[in-house]
Amino acid sequence: MAKLFLPSLPVCPHCNTVYRYSDVKKIMFKKSEKCYHCKKNFKISKKKLIIMIIELLIIYAALGLFLIGVVGIKPLVLFIINVFLVAAGILLIPYYIMFVKKK
Ligand SMILES: [Zn+2]
Repeated sequence: MAKLFLPSLPVCPHCNTVYRYSDVKKIMFKKSEKCYHCKKNFKISKKKLIIMIIELLIIYAALGLFLIGVVGIKPLVLFIINVFLVAAGILLIPYYIMFVKKK
């Protein structure tokens, strides 16, 4: 289970070829893909990504309440911080994509 939460670039489940960031970005919204190395098909799983998004939403909500309620920053400042965090999160998407064998 621990492996599921570590950010890493996905590998082919058949031949363990590591996909580069730019390669993952190109295919990450597809359902399946053929490995460029071993030519076998695999499924592109977003399970880890969905878990990451749910966790981030909880952290965002808690952080937002803390910053407004305790630190006393303005909602606009918080909004700007969130925009940067979301932008950073989007850049990390390829690290949360997994390739799995087709059943
Ligand atoms: Zn392969």
